[in-house]
Parts: sequence; C-alpha cells; structure tokens
Amino acid sequence: MRQRIKKATYCAARLLGLFHVARWLTRRGLRILCYHGVAMADEGQFRPSVFIQLDTFRDRMAYLARKGYPVLGLDEAIRRLDRGDLPPGATVITFDDGWHSIQRLALPVLEQHGFPATVYATTYYVTKQTPIFRLVVQYMMWKTEAKQLDVSDLSIEAASPIDLTDPAARHDAMWQIITHAEKNLTEDHRVALSRQLGQRLGVDYGLVADWRLFSLMTPDELRDAAAEGLDIQLHTHRHVLPKDKEGLLREISDNRAALEPLVGRPLDHFCYPDGTYSPRHFALLREAGIQSAATCDSGLNTPATERMALHRFVDGSTIAPIEFEAEMCGFAHLLRRLRSCLLGRRERGRP
Ligand SMILES: [Zn+2]
Repeated sequence: MRQRIKKATYCAARLLGLFHVARWLTRRGLRILCYHGVAMADEGQFRPSVFIQLDTFRDRMAYLARKGYPVLGLDEAIRRLDRGDLPPGATVITFDDGWHSIQRLALPVLEQHGFPATVYATTYYVTKQTPIFRLVVQYMMWKTEAKQLDVSDLSIEAASPIDLTDPAARHDAMWQIITHAEKNLTEDHRVALSRQLGQRLGVDYGLVADWRLFSLMTPDELRDAAAEGLDIQLHTHRHVLPKDKEGLLREISDNRAALEPLVGRPLDHFCYPDGTYSPRHFALLREAGIQSAATCDSGLNTPATERMALHRFVDGSTIAPIEFEAEMCGFAHLLRRLRSCLLGRRERGRP
C-alpha cells in the first residue's frame, strides 16, 4: 500500500514538472548508484535486489545517457566534490563485492555508453574461487522442491528430518547449517557439505558452481577488468567489519594485499560490507589511508557530507523505473528531507 502511494506521488510529481525542478534544485548533489551482480539464471528471482536483470540494468544506463547525467569516475567525483566544481547531476556507478557477472554482463553495457565505474571487491572468495557458501545454501533451500531434509549425520543441532514445508523450520535449519559450517568447517569441507546438501535437496550444486551464479571474479578477471578501465577498490577481505582497530586494519591490509598486485596501484576508496558502519570507524579508516567510504544510506552527497559515510542509492530489479527516476532527479531525496524535517518539528513540538 505504502509502495503504491509512493509510486502514485512520484507519477503525479513528474506530471507536474516537479522532477525538473528537483533536478535543478539538487544539481550540485553527487549521485552514487550501487549495484551488486547481474542475473545470469534464476538467481535474479532468488535475490532481485542483489542480482539485477540485465534488461533492467541496460534500461538504467540508457536512461542516464538519454537524460544527460554526467557519469564520472569515483576518484574524480570525490576530488571535484571537495573542490565544489562537479558538473550538474554528476553521477558515479558502483558495484559491490566483485561478482563474475559484472565483468561478463555489466561491463559491455558500460563500455557501450563510455561510463566509468567502480567495483568494491571483497577478496576471500576471489582467492578461493568457490561459490559464496552462505548464499549458495540459501539459494538451494529456496530452489528445492524437497519436502524434508535429513541432517542427522551432519553434526548440526537441528531436529532431523527438517520439515521443509514449514517456512519457519526451513529458515531456522538453513541458518543453523550456515552458522555451523562457517564456524567449524574449512572452505573445502563447506564445498563438500554444499554438494551433499544439493544432492539431498535435488539442486545441482555442480551446475551452480560451473555457471558461477554465486562466484566472484577470478584474480585474472579482476586484472583484465582493471586493464579495461574498471576502477577496483576495497570492500574488506572477508566481507566483515570488525569492531576493533586491529581487526579492521587487518581486513583492509589483506584486501589490499590481494587487489593491489592485480591493479598495479594503491587503493584508497572503501565500501562498508553490508552497508553497516559506525562513526567510530571514520578515524580508523583515515588512519588506514582511506579517502572515502561508501554506505548503503540513501541520499545525495554534498561538500558537507562526511567522506567516510557517502550516500548511495541501492538499485535492483525491485526498484520500479519511476522510483529510479525520482532518485536520480533528487525528488526522492527532497521528499525524505521534508519528511525528516516535519518529523523533527513534530518531535520538538511534543511536551
Ligand atoms: Zn558487499
């Protein structure tokens, strides 16, 4: 219902010409788009917000070109944001994680428009070259048509067999399997477990691995993509953000150690894994030589925006074209500002 009201508001605003007004009012704001992977099979139905459909991605890029949004590289955009000389409607395109599908499907679309882009690459699975375990387990549990799953021989604390027709039991068992394996097993054993689960669930794990539905780019692919002009940046090695200084600095140095030899230059832009962060990270990141850090918080970026908490718009197949347009022109941003202003006033008006 809320979603329908939002779309109706956007449609009315566009009809009234308010999208043009918003674009002019927010022309100095830097837009940063966030993508993850592009769907190669049915993983786009499994996680539509993570794996965007190729046609949707093509439409988005064509829209940016048609509407004349200047797409800049991340580093240039940050420098010009500092200097205050960004072109009106300046936009940056980013991809999180470093999915194989980016190199295979998104890169040709970007090249067609001459758009630069940044990939924030997490590197543990780049070095392992196995499908991301927790995601492939969730996918197999989503895809299976099996009614029950026997895990009695897998040292997992779950009543076996698991009734897969019960959504709560299925969800709990899935996370028990993931937590158990991530805590206790090596990557080789996790792959073996994934195969076993695939057999029991009737999902071909070998095919998922061969098609690289949940695989990141190989070191060679990252090197080639960087040579083709893709900007590779940091996203931690193990896709975690440790709270302690030592842990955080290790994540960044391990990530750099894996990436810098491939791209042949120092890396100093960062993206928080899962978008979670806290202000106490800012000083630590600066200490590690980081120039900017991207979040998943919506909004435009102005010279006043904290560089260690850049705003981005997370796009995906669940976002309707009108929502994308509202974000790009800044109307959605202005609406959020108005809402928080009104809410703040209401809070202050309380006795
Ligand atoms: Zn990520």
